[in-house]
Amino acid sequence: LLEVRGVRKSFDDLEVLRGVDLDVPSGALVAVLGPSGCGKTTLLRVIAGFERAGAGTVSVGGRLLTAPPGTHVAPEKRRIAVVPQEGALFPHLTVADNVAYGLRRRDPRRGRRVSELLELVGLEGYERRMPAELSGGQQQRVALARALAPEPQVVLLDEPFSALDAALRASVRADVRAALRATGATGFLVTHDQEEALSTADVVAVMRDGVVVQAGTPEQVYRAPHDLDVARFVGEA
Ligand code: ATP
Repeated sequence: LLEVRGVRKSFDDLEVLRGVDLDVPSGALVAVLGPSGCGKTTLLRVIAGFERAGAGTVSVGGRLLTAPPGTHVAPEKRRIAVVPQEGALFPHLTVADNVAYGLRRRDPRRGRRVSELLELVGLEGYERRMPAELSGGQQQRVALARALAPEPQVVLLDEPFSALDAALRASVRADVRAALRATGATGFLVTHDQEEALSTADVVAVMRDGVVVQAGTPEQVYRAPHDLDVARFVGEA
C-alpha cells in the first residue's frame, strides 16, 4: 500500500501541496488527474524523495519514507522507480544496456533478465538497437523496462504518453498497464487527460489547488463527482 497523509510542500511563499491524502492498494494503478499547476508533479517528486515534504507522511508497504522533520529516506533507497515524460534513455547506450542500468553488474542472470523485461514491454529482440532508432512509443517502453528492472514496489509515471500521438498512446498505455500487472508493482500515473485516467486506472485521484479533492474508482468519480468542478473536469473529454 502506498499511503500519503497530510503532505504539504511549499516553494518559498507558494504552498503547492496543502495536505494531500491518498491511499493506493498494492498492485493498483492510480491516475492523478488535475489541471496544470495543481501540484501533480510535485506530489510525484515528494513520493520519489526528490523533494522534501514540509509536513505529512509517505509510506509504502508500512515502511515510513517521509516524515518531516526527521525521516527522509534517500530516493535510491525507496524501491520506487520513475518514468519521466520523455528523454529518459541514455542516448549512447544500447537498449539492453539502458535496461540493465538498473540491475547489479555482477548478476549472472543479467542478460536473461534484460530480455525478459523487454519481452514484458513488447520489445523482444530489440537489445542491440540504439534509442535514436526507436519510435517515441518504443522509447517509453524501454524506459518502463528499465524502471522495472530493480523490481520496484512503486512505479511513478509523469505524463509518460504526452509526447505520443493518440493511436500510439492507447497501445502503449495498455502495455504499460499489463506490464505493471505482470510485475505486481503499484503504479502512480500523473496525467491531465481525463479519458486516459478513466480508461486506464484502478483508482482516479482528482487534484485541485494542492489537495486531492476526490479519489475513487473511475466509475465512482465519473458517476458521482464530488462537486461541480470535478464533474466539469472529468466530464470534458
Ligand atoms: P503540469 O500539469 O503543468 O505539469 P502540475 O500539476 O504537475 O502541473 P507542478 O509541476 O507540481 O504542477 O507545479 C505546481 C506549482 O508549483 C506551479 O505553480 C509551479 O510553478 C510550482 N513549482 C514546481 N516546482 C517548483 C520549484 N522547484 N520551485 C518553485 N516553484 C515550483
